[in-house]
Amino acid sequence: MGELLQKSREALQRYFGYKEFRPLQAEVIQSIYDGKDVLLLMPTGGGKSICYQIPALTRAGCCIVVSPLISLMKDQVEGLVANGVRAAFLNSSLSHGEQQKVGNDLYNGRLDLLYTSPEKMCSQEFYNLLKAAKINLFAIDEAHCISSWGHDFRPEYRKLTFLKKSFPQVPVIAVTATADKLTRMDIARQLHLDEPEVFVASFDRPNIFLEARPGRKKFEQIRDFVRRRPGQPGIIYCLAKKTTESLAAKLQEAGIVADSYHAGHDSLRRSSVQEDFISDRTQVICATIAFGMGIDKSNVRWVIHYNLPKNIESYYQEIGRCGRDGAAAHALLFHSFSDVMTMRSFISSEPSENSQVYLTKLDRMYEYATAAICRRKMLLNYFNEAREEDCGHCDVCKNPPEYIDGTVTAQKALSAVARCREQIGSGMLVDILRGSKGYQLVNAGYDKIKTWGAGREHNQEAWFQYINQLILQGLLEVAYDDHNKLRLTPAAKEVLFTGRKVKLVKAEVLKKRQEAKAQVKTKRERVRDDLFEHLRQLRLQISREKGVPPYIIFSDASLEEMAAMRPTTEADFANINGVGELKLREFGQTFITAIQEYLEEESRK
Ligand code: ADP
Ligand code: ZN
Repeated sequence: MGELLQKSREALQRYFGYKEFRPLQAEVIQSIYDGKDVLLLMPTGGGKSICYQIPALTRAGCCIVVSPLISLMKDQVEGLVANGVRAAFLNSSLSHGEQQKVGNDLYNGRLDLLYTSPEKMCSQEFYNLLKAAKINLFAIDEAHCISSWGHDFRPEYRKLTFLKKSFPQVPVIAVTATADKLTRMDIARQLHLDEPEVFVASFDRPNIFLEARPGRKKFEQIRDFVRRRPGQPGIIYCLAKKTTESLAAKLQEAGIVADSYHAGHDSLRRSSVQEDFISDRTQVICATIAFGMGIDKSNVRWVIHYNLPKNIESYYQEIGRCGRDGAAAHALLFHSFSDVMTMRSFISSEPSENSQVYLTKLDRMYEYATAAICRRKMLLNYFNEAREEDCGHCDVCKNPPEYIDGTVTAQKALSAVARCREQIGSGMLVDILRGSKGYQLVNAGYDKIKTWGAGREHNQEAWFQYINQLILQGLLEVAYDDHNKLRLTPAAKEVLFTGRKVKLVKAEVLKKRQEAKAQVKTKRERVRDDLFEHLRQLRLQISREKGVPPYIIFSDASLEEMAAMRPTTEADFANINGVGELKLREFGQTFITAIQEYLEEESRK
């Protein structure tokens, strides 16, 4: 190992309390030491920041980090300062005097990391300061913002093209969590990176348990889900603003501390909701997708999608907001056909040249939610990361589907559609099969057809699942332009008339799916028990005294490890992941005492 890499390991332990680099981190750091420009693609929570923070800390001079979100800068700097790093930020939220002080610190070599906005970067005053100070690295966070091909283009990022010309000797690292090949090339070109080393990390987030369920009785399902996770912060994404409010109200009635967040709230309200969530005062936020971009909360333990997201890219970005600390997390997706219909009508109501792409992406999303294939395999394949093996950490892997001969079931449904002359949607179809006597049904004379009541052996829930499978297998088609009526395909006629067989996934199995206990494979043991809860309360108390978010004190992952290892000496405590030198000094004794007291009490029981 090179001398610098040895130094970088020491810094990783000393400042962050981590024992090992994650995949690619050491390689990226080595490239920067070699003076190369780097383009790094890593999923949210993958550990991108360490890749520039460590070089910043191990070499003379300061690293300038360009970041688009002012709210994030403050958070990141807070986290670094809590670890004893000399970090600051410089943006328009600071007073003139404060800006002056930061500038002085930079000039006098009192900073290791300085976070700033692209606008600031491009001001003449700052340029002069950069020329006068010693800069060891430029890090461009959310680098896809520079490309108009990316999904979040920010014109002010374009001005960063000057960096490489003005500071040819300073390496640049551009990092992002989302960039297809085209955007990737565009980033390198726009920044004038000099033969950059490109690193692409796996997009897998192995600690997130993936699950999808049919969206029936959603409130009851969500309430039970949250009750089984006391004190675990989570986000529920909803499509409509009014759903966020009504859902939050119902959860509150059920005794859960919940709040809502959407663009219709004024900015004061939005920031107080966000603040309460960050400091663990509110457990659950029901929000539109606007929520979550500007926060860096590492202990979000779960994300629920109340409605189907519009595509797999958004879904993956949104679930990426849980489990950033690497501890066990859960992503639960509700799907329903009515969501697909709602979104289809959104897309069709504003036709554009991309409409067809949007519709196809929506279909892929629905397929993901309803297919009986390992979900992680589907996701990673979608992002062009070929996976052969099942993951073992999703609902499909935990409860493998049971296939049955569904020919008779399919024939009943298809025949009912035929007898109603393809004039019914799936709700009416289920009613007919189950022999309902609804007003509209009787009025249309559907109680007179031969298949009326022919499907009582399956309950309503099961029928919806079977019909859905028939759609996905291409036996039924949905006429989106005609009230979502079901139409028979040529393949359906083969099933009805020429004996074609149909394989279905048994519905009861889907329904009975148990929530599997999340297991994260980590080298170190982790537990959530009474001691964990005890330490979590202690963390909350300290965080309130200090006025910083709890996860800045210690991450959930660190608390879990403390609960498992029960360290009672300083040496053992220092061995916990996430305990660096400063935190050992500041909090070590308090936590050790709490653990000792807990153990004594336990032994008396
Ligand atoms: P990203 O910027 O890629 O979304 P971060 O850099 O914020 O991710 O890292 C995500 C989390 O992982 C942070 O809590 C960070 O401290 C932690 N982390 C990063 N590198 C390591 C490591 N080598 N060992 C343990 N935890 C790490
Ligand atoms: Zn799986």
